[in-house]
Amino acid sequence: MGFSDLGLSPDLLRAIEDAGYTTPTPIQEQAIPQVLMGRDVMGIAQTGTGKTAGFTLPMIEILGKGRAKARMPRSLILEPTRELAAQVSESFEKYGKHHKLNMALLIGGVSFAEQEKKIDRGVDVLIATPGRLLDHFGRGKILLQDVKILVIDEADRMLDMGFIPDIERIVGVLPKIRQTLFFSATMAPEIRKLSDKFLINPKQISVDKKASTAETVVQNLVVVNSKAKREALRSLIRSENVKNAFIFCNRKRDIGTLQKYLAQNGFSAVALHGDMTQPARTETLARFKNNEVSLLVCSDVAARGLDIQAVSHVFNFDVPSNAEDYVHRIGRTGRAGMTGRAYTIATPEEAKYVAAIESLIGNPIPRITTDDVDAEELDMSDVGGKRRRGGRKGKAEETAKPARSRAAAAPETMPEAPAESPAQTQPEADEAKPARTRRSRSERGERAPARDSGRDQGRDQGRDQGQRDKAPAPTKHEPIRDRRDEPKRDRAPRFSDDDAADTGSGGFGDDVPAFLLRTVKLKKSA
Ligand code: AMP
Repeated sequence: MGFSDLGLSPDLLRAIEDAGYTTPTPIQEQAIPQVLMGRDVMGIAQTGTGKTAGFTLPMIEILGKGRAKARMPRSLILEPTRELAAQVSESFEKYGKHHKLNMALLIGGVSFAEQEKKIDRGVDVLIATPGRLLDHFGRGKILLQDVKILVIDEADRMLDMGFIPDIERIVGVLPKIRQTLFFSATMAPEIRKLSDKFLINPKQISVDKKASTAETVVQNLVVVNSKAKREALRSLIRSENVKNAFIFCNRKRDIGTLQKYLAQNGFSAVALHGDMTQPARTETLARFKNNEVSLLVCSDVAARGLDIQAVSHVFNFDVPSNAEDYVHRIGRTGRAGMTGRAYTIATPEEAKYVAAIESLIGNPIPRITTDDVDAEELDMSDVGGKRRRGGRKGKAEETAKPARSRAAAAPETMPEAPAESPAQTQPEADEAKPARTRRSRSERGERAPARDSGRDQGRDQGRDQGQRDKAPAPTKHEPIRDRRDEPKRDRAPRFSDDDAADTGSGGFGDDVPAFLLRTVKLKKSA
């Protein structure tokens, strides 16, 4: 089946051809005719399946036939993160280039005034994150009674991030007669309940997961002492033919430090996390996409959904404490049938997170060593209640024998590194303590705790201003310093998602941040 069989007009077919697509993906083949018929759709599909075009193409077709009134958008697309919202708006621009549709992107970190101007002119397509949309709505700047098509994208992620109360509030003010398209990567009971509530007799479409990342991503694990992690990373980068790479850290506050360390060592690295201002996030991502910089040191805000082709490597500077995050992180490489490499740097204490990941992916991650750093072993005493013996460089792991890395043999392909920087010899005073293993809320079929409504008002605005005041510019150099010198307020808890953390949720629910679970040694008074 070709695109011309799906009921799309010649203008759209031209745009599709310009995008270089020849055949519809399975979700497009199934969803487009249904959406064109006006039917509700419940799509179980991950990013990477072509689902964005699956809903944007028929929407453009439908919306091409009418005109928008001031402040009354005709369609609404809800996305969990600013980056995903921006990515969907790019798709609209790409596929809608032969149509005259007005689009507005309502995301935090961007001035309200600009967004209001656009809404005042009348928009056919409104793409928004829930918090910012409610802020506009609460100010009376937007009327939602003319929305004919609603898209809720990445519903399981919305659930994980605690956005469901916001979504319910938004859907509550939309017209009852509308078309709803609902997409989720998983179908946990809670997601099923929501879809039952929001959709009327939907066409259910389920597409297979993308080819398992294991097929296109070569994975390896290095176990080192926590103080040797940066050196291990440097050694891995140098030993590999790294064109560009995501380097994931568990905690936002480690990202800037690591980025500076890499920059000081001659690597072209930038940082991306949820505490940066939106213009800085957008600019950083653009520089990485355009290959102006090769290493993106980031939090899990970059782990899902971002569609950057041809990323050669992923490095996990920390083992993610949520096994599912591992799959999302390494899925940033090995896309579109290309092979990618994913390296994870673990400390002995992170054994249980490694075990959880290996159980999820159904395979051991092959261990390797680097020539520059002493290898350690995972401390299995805390895994599955079993105690295993084996000291430093003692018994090899049972799951996979360590292989020698290509470190010694491979040529240096990254920019030249200068002589050892003084920063490198400084101890890392406080390595990330692993947070406890948890399943995501969507996996457990639970809701995130609701925020109290008083915090909703101006939330985005307030936090963005706060972040502007606090956030370091991504490329600003600061000496790498001992954590003990830092003010306490900087010691942010580790959240699984930056944007969720940004929202200032009322409670931690089950996700007690790692710092609250740490054992604290009390000093004896003299
Ligand atoms: P998505 O799942 O919507 O994030 O799309 C993933 C990637 O697939 C994007 O880079 C799209 O540009 C690309 N894509 C979408 N539809 C097609 C198609 N029919 N043929 C080739 N590439 C596509």
